[in-house]
Amino acid sequence: MQEYKLFINGEWVESSSGEMFDDINPATLELIGKIHKANEEDVKNAVDAAEDAFDTWSSTPAPRRAKILFRAARMLEDRKEELSRLMTMEMGKVLKEARGDVQEAIDMAYYAAGEGRRLLGETTPSELADKFCMTVRRPIGVVGLITPWNFPIAIPAWKVMPALIAGNTLIFKPASDTPILSIELVKILQEAGLPGGVLNLVTGEGKTVGSQIVHNRKIRAVSFTGSLETGKWILGEAARDMKKVSLELGGKNPIIVMDDADLDLAIDGIVWGAFGTTGQRCTAASRVIAHYKILPELLKKLIERTKKLKTGNGLLENTDVGPVINNSQLQKIAKYVDIGKKEGAKLVLGGNIIKPLPGYFFEPTIFTDVSPDMRIAQEEIFGPVVSLIKAQDIDDAIHIANSVEYGLSSSIYSANLKNAFKAIEKIEAGITYINASTIGAEIHLPFGGIKSTGNGTREAGTTAIEEFTELKTVYFDYSGKLQKAQIDIE
Ligand code: NAP
Repeated sequence: MQEYKLFINGEWVESSSGEMFDDINPATLELIGKIHKANEEDVKNAVDAAEDAFDTWSSTPAPRRAKILFRAARMLEDRKEELSRLMTMEMGKVLKEARGDVQEAIDMAYYAAGEGRRLLGETTPSELADKFCMTVRRPIGVVGLITPWNFPIAIPAWKVMPALIAGNTLIFKPASDTPILSIELVKILQEAGLPGGVLNLVTGEGKTVGSQIVHNRKIRAVSFTGSLETGKWILGEAARDMKKVSLELGGKNPIIVMDDADLDLAIDGIVWGAFGTTGQRCTAASRVIAHYKILPELLKKLIERTKKLKTGNGLLENTDVGPVINNSQLQKIAKYVDIGKKEGAKLVLGGNIIKPLPGYFFEPTIFTDVSPDMRIAQEEIFGPVVSLIKAQDIDDAIHIANSVEYGLSSSIYSANLKNAFKAIEKIEAGITYINASTIGAEIHLPFGGIKSTGNGTREAGTTAIEEFTELKTVYFDYSGKLQKAQIDIE
């Protein structure tokens, strides 16, 4: 069985404790790798290496840093199919989606590399003569990155690539359910020529390794994607050291379907948004808010379409829905189905763990007669479960859409421009799609949410650079005399 080591100071090393943990294929329960488990000493070594590497890396001109990222992008492209297959085995998502995940990493690598010739600041006139004003971007320093399992290479690339181009040095801890794709990403960057110490990878439990990253005083910023619970804890802990924190957390994303919508198009979007990635996307469509006039027909068509979905091993080309990530996630989904039934929602399709399969499979599940305050309409389930909620009109639909604590993605299907613009203006979310599902972010646009989905930062797009840089304001006075702003204004 292949062993995967830690990457510290440019070397692949065993964990100091010698301990390892298992990486399991969720579709077959086969062991696919033994992963070294870092401890406090390993995290300390990784942080020290990153600190030592910072001066040289941050002084390397950004276009030269970019060359390494361009090389890595090309290597990711060359290895796309192999990495996609590995991802389906490690995480379970169907092969087509795994290819999309790797493609997102390729896109981000190219995009971030291009930023190496921008990293833009601004210039602006001074209120005084013979004085020049501008801003420049500086790296933050040693930065900690902590990622979830549902996008095993895309989310790591969303953080690693912009953080590197900006000149930071990194400690990276991937999710324990999917470390291998992150390890492959690090190997590619190493092979592309990244100097030792610039990117350090420590695998191991969130509660120990993750927590040590959050508490290490040499780390100046933490970029985290994961659950609300962990995000809240990190924000509180990091505040003690005045660390910069970026949080991308959960979602309870609505699709509104109005009475003038193209219903077949809406069904396509609902099926893709609710059951794609087995519902395990932060942007998954877990609520459908349907106008009462079309709800019965929408429900009938949705059930018909969902029944045709084939659940199974994502490596088989005809599989539509893969496994869920692990047993605790499987049990959590089953628990929420029970909660929904007890709350009085009507289960019209699915609702069961699929037993004859060896892995962690759950039936695509539809609830109707769901009221907006039920727990299944409020809490993130992170599985193939969608709740249909009735709305009277557009205002009622938007009110229901906004009645949750999250605010990540949202969507409306309507032929009416007024409805579309109301949704754009009034839905409380970081992302709104018109006549498209809640999923499908492109890497050159800002990504993130409001309310409990995050703390206001955005990843990807030009905002990715903001996340990983500090702005310095520069006043350059070449008048040769003392000039006083606000005072010498006559
Ligand atoms: P999670 O349990 O919060 O774990 C995320 C990461 O944090 C993992 O690497 C985990 O390590 C680590 N971690 C756990 N406890 C920690 C602690 N006390 N200190 C530091 N790190 C800790 O979330 P998940 O179950 O992996 O991911 C699913 C969640 O992510 C969902 O809520 C989903 O909506 C959200 N998500 C959000 C976005 C977005 O951009 N908004 C994107 C994708 C996913 P271990 O794996 O070792 O436990």
